Amino acid sequence: MQAEVIAIGDELTSGQRLDTNSQWISRRLTDLGIRVLYHTTVGDDTEAGVNVFRHALHRADLVVSTGGLGPTADDLTREAISKAVGAELVLNQDALDHIRELFTRRRYKMPERNVVQAMFPARSRVVPNPHGTAPGIDMDIPREDRKPARLFALPGVPAELRDMWHGTVEPAIIEWLGDDRRFIRHRLIKCFGAGESPIEKMLPDLIRRGRTPTVGITATKATITLRITAEGATPEACDEGMEPTAATIRECLGDLVFGEGDDELYHVVVRMLNGRQQTLATVECGSGGRLAEWLSEADPAMETYLGGTIARHPNVRARIAGESIEDETLVRAMASGCRDEYGADYALALGPFPQGDDQGSAPGKVHFAVAGPDGVGTKTSLFAAHPDIRTPLAVKQALNFLRLKLMA
Ligand code: AMP
Ligand code: MG
Repeated sequence: MQAEVIAIGDELTSGQRLDTNSQWISRRLTDLGIRVLYHTTVGDDTEAGVNVFRHALHRADLVVSTGGLGPTADDLTREAISKAVGAELVLNQDALDHIRELFTRRRYKMPERNVVQAMFPARSRVVPNPHGTAPGIDMDIPREDRKPARLFALPGVPAELRDMWHGTVEPAIIEWLGDDRRFIRHRLIKCFGAGESPIEKMLPDLIRRGRTPTVGITATKATITLRITAEGATPEACDEGMEPTAATIRECLGDLVFGEGDDELYHVVVRMLNGRQQTLATVECGSGGRLAEWLSEADPAMETYLGGTIARHPNVRARIAGESIEDETLVRAMASGCRDEYGADYALALGPFPQGDDQGSAPGKVHFAVAGPDGVGTKTSLFAAHPDIRTPLAVKQALNFLRLKLMA
């Protein structure tokens, strides 16, 4: 069983609007145990639309489209489906009555143009749209030598799409699947401290295609996520099936693994300190408050993260740490001073970022220090990454340094 999602609209293909509906629909389908193998986006063009529907109905068992069901001249989905499956458009009186009633309730006269929204391909069913004028289309599409494909065409307005999904489409899909219903579950294992390729090398052939459960790897701003995906007859069977793979990953990667699911390093650090009823303060130079922002977000109850200082200008740093010191001695002095000033169990210091463009020359360095009950430790990292991720990377390196200190 595989599905295709089709998004329709010039606003999508021209880049003016992001296609969030495909993401939303795909998540729902995955929750239903259906693998989405294709996403297709097509502009408001009948011929292109016809082709897209033909291909989709050939290569997928379930096709869900979004957009192009409005009353205006650029809404061509109805026509494209009718041509693609060879079913003429006929008026559905119930759908027309509903649209008329909606206009009457809003005290408007229904424009003649809206009648097209009650035109449906022969042999199709109506997907009611309680809050909008564009009903959806639900259709079985006979195929040679295979069970019929199922097609749902839904409007583009996200709120209407969601209501119709929950009200009609999802129950219909569940009924259609019957005993074939499967479940797909994901488990995310989050890692920090090594790149994608080294991490892949440390995992014994887990990322091979065709393995079950499957393991995928993605990198987001230096955080590596391993996504385990299992398919099974029940959610519990999926979870059980993933457990040995998760255990292998944890065993192979050791303390590179910092959490699961939505965990970020800052949640983990706050959780560790909170579990020991200890507190944290920060002082950061290059990162403009990012460290303080993340830790604050992770500690809404204000039990663990006491606060922080943003020491940007060299004069400010000099006031905190004394005139002539720099590099490791600077972060060391800042961490100790911060720990005293805030009365915290731990203080984390993140040093200044190297100035200027490092293209061509050797990358500069960033220094970190943790001051705690057992003294002060420092660490130095290269400030070498794409400009977009340098700040989050340095902040994560600082948090990871603290995490490893807390684990030691
Ligand atoms: P339509 O059903 O094509 O008339 O689309 C109605 C409105 O829904 C559009 O003007 C967009 O603002 C929005 N929309 C359409 N398609 C999508 C999509 N794939 N993702 C998010 N919003 C969309
Ligand atoms: Mg449109």
